[in-house]
Amino acid sequence: MQQLPNFVAANPLYQRLKPTSLLIDIAPYTLTAQPHSFIAVRFNLSPRAARRRDNVIRQLLEQHEPDLYQAVLDLEQTTPNQVSQQAQAFKSWLKDLLSTSVMPCDYCQSPLTVRIGHRLNFRCRSCRRTFNPLKKYQLNHLSHCELWLPFVDLLLQGETLKTANQQLGISPNTAAKWQSCFLWIMEKQGFSILANYCRVKRRQRYRVGNHNFV
Ligand SMILES: [Zn+2]
Repeated sequence: MQQLPNFVAANPLYQRLKPTSLLIDIAPYTLTAQPHSFIAVRFNLSPRAARRRDNVIRQLLEQHEPDLYQAVLDLEQTTPNQVSQQAQAFKSWLKDLLSTSVMPCDYCQSPLTVRIGHRLNFRCRSCRRTFNPLKKYQLNHLSHCELWLPFVDLLLQGETLKTANQQLGISPNTAAKWQSCFLWIMEKQGFSILANYCRVKRRQRYRVGNHNFV
């Protein structure tokens, strides 16, 4: 990474990319396959200037560090696949949780339970206690369960709380609460790639939006 300016200085094609020290700062973003728009905002460059620098770093990686270059390409290709797999799995887990009529007792694990009412309460025939399976995910305090899946879709798109408010009619405060709740559940249920993706997406959207780029 430290050799980048030397490589650039050695190649007359790259002479226009001054200051070359900026390439060292941009390189970690290239290595983590961040989008050009994000690099542009981060370093106060035009999108074109950001793309040119990102491409130069990629060319130099390809020539001098082919393994690292391949890793960047892999990151770009495999991450969206893993994300969409986890997104699908998470959404079907949530859907199943909301529609289930079979749930072992939270207290005594007996399978002899019946669902009662709309709010996903169950009564156990063995120990006669009632329980709500949403409680262990702290979802029993959230209202409008019919909006949870559409909300997860907005999280995946990195949408702002304001958009959630406009599209789903929930207040920005509620949206903030839902956001932290669902990210926490994703982590808890082992979908950490998905949770990270939502956070990165959200941060990019926030920064880009803040600079009036989109
Ligand atoms: Zn029981």
